[in-house]
Amino acid sequence: MNLKLDRFIETYKGEEFDVTIIGGGITGATLAYEVASRGYTVALVEKKDFGGATSAATGKLIHGGLRYLKQFEIGLVREALKERRILSNIAPNLVYPYPMVLPKPGLIARIGLFVYDLLSFDSKWTWDESKQIPNHQYLKRKELNQKNLGDFEDAAYFYDAICLSPERLTLSFLKSAVSYGAKIANYTVVENLIWEDKAVVGILVHDVLTNQKHQIRSKVTINASGPWTHNILSKSSKTEQPMPKKRSEGIYIITKKLTNLMTLYVGDKGHFSFAPWRGHSMIGPTEKSYFGNVEDWKLTKESITEFIDYINETSHLKEKLTMDDVIFAYGGLRPLVESSDDTYSASRRSELYDHVRDGIQGLITAAGGKYTTSRHFAESIFKQIQKKLDKKSGEAISAKQHLYASQIPNVEIFIQGAKKQNADFSENTIDYLIRHYGLQYEIILELARKTKNLAAVLNADGEILAEVVYVIRYEMAKSLSDIFLRRTGLGTLGILSDEIMKVIIDTAASEWNWSEDTKKKETEIIYKTLKLPV
Ligand SMILES: Cc1cc2nc3c(=O)[nH]c(=O)nc-3n(C[C@H](O)[C@H](O)[C@H](O)COP(=O)(O)OP(=O)(O)OC[C@H]3O[C@@H](n4cnc5c(N)ncnc54)[C@H](O)[C@@H]3O)c2cc1C
Repeated sequence: MNLKLDRFIETYKGEEFDVTIIGGGITGATLAYEVASRGYTVALVEKKDFGGATSAATGKLIHGGLRYLKQFEIGLVREALKERRILSNIAPNLVYPYPMVLPKPGLIARIGLFVYDLLSFDSKWTWDESKQIPNHQYLKRKELNQKNLGDFEDAAYFYDAICLSPERLTLSFLKSAVSYGAKIANYTVVENLIWEDKAVVGILVHDVLTNQKHQIRSKVTINASGPWTHNILSKSSKTEQPMPKKRSEGIYIITKKLTNLMTLYVGDKGHFSFAPWRGHSMIGPTEKSYFGNVEDWKLTKESITEFIDYINETSHLKEKLTMDDVIFAYGGLRPLVESSDDTYSASRRSELYDHVRDGIQGLITAAGGKYTTSRHFAESIFKQIQKKLDKKSGEAISAKQHLYASQIPNVEIFIQGAKKQNADFSENTIDYLIRHYGLQYEIILELARKTKNLAAVLNADGEILAEVVYVIRYEMAKSLSDIFLRRTGLGTLGILSDEIMKVIIDTAASEWNWSEDTKKKETEIIYKTLKLPV
């Protein structure tokens, strides 16, 4: 279990691939795994860091999407519920059943929950029995109070699933892809498609870290660039499509812990929830129109304050929430299939578009609708690729075997055993490392055993300094924000104390051989990244 990720682009010799993928979000990552594990050659390039755009903006839910039943999206909900089970099978360390309450459910919500249970008929067919999801219950105040589920007149109590770190699940798919021979590179921008007459035959890329340009040729190119889909297509007049005028922004805020259980609210501007997360509350998402360029989107103070007002109007909080309660916030733009006026009701279906419909060979656009359904979406994209390539493929395995380093038949039992075997570390640390790094936790412990200062504990979750060294050496972390926000959980509750920030930055700077000037510049950037917008 000692796979090391490398940026293939730095040693690229000009070979042709069966498939190139533009975009290293969850759509690109699951597809890279599907393609490589079926025996085709594949290269994936990501312009920033893997899983750092929409795929990091999620509410971390691996869910059927109860509310889509209201729009009669039965097929989408069933697909997502099946994928919920598959993801908790193949990534047992990252995906867990997650209880929630819906206060005062109306008749439609109650019918919806009944249908949701019916559509989850396979929710007990899990490889690990701790992952089984029970049917919903309808409870009155007395029972809610007895079970410590909140003080409501009545509520529905039901389960979906949560992914502890969508960033790391995206990376797990990429690692699995690499273990089957996929080539991947972050910080590599696709500047253009390569054309031969009416066919796309590859991509022109710019490696931002070495400032080199390369042509990567392939039989099929997949545009999996999420909200940037139209930017890629607009690079040629042959594929140009009108840019969507409006997109949907969604944000989450992190506050001190406000509820013990995920609690859902539905107001006139849509639903949001309070979810317990890392000893805090994660509140969101919002649904707000955005009219600018995708590239220019950033989280604003205005969006946060508007959301706080909406929370204060709609939720049960006895004390009003203020900006001072917010310790961190994040968000993104939804890559929706429809360009409808009502983005809240717009479908979260994925869309597969083979440009052969417009007489263009070798190009497929794949716009992901939900994080949860990405693996299944990758299977559909692969079928489309198969039709284009006259090449035998291997058996489909992505739903049948654990992801790389996730081969843990029963997570809870495994963690208990590991705590006993590694009693030189705190139980918190072992728990955190196994749930986030799977079987590669052992490499982190070894690093910390060899160099004692790397055993330093950095936060209440038990994260240790050795993770910083590990993610640089093994997981292609190239910037401080890769470390703080996507590989570890160190920055996901905002800025840590100056002392801890310094230890982390010093360790990274020494691994990367940074000059004092670079360190100063990068320190300013990470502080700015982790701070709330002003
Ligand atoms: C607020 C919010 C909450 C959500 N919550 C959930 C949830 O709880 N559960 C759920 O299932 N789904 C959720 N979703 C939906 C889910 O996040 C998306 O469906 C999914 O992340 C889309 O992934 P993607 O890979 O298609 O797009 P992205 O993650 O955006 O990936 C596209 C990638 O392409 C890269 N790229 C773009 N242009 C180029 C270029 N020129 N060269 C190279 N790379 C390029 C980008 O940098 C980016 O990393 C949520 C979405 C939002 C916005």
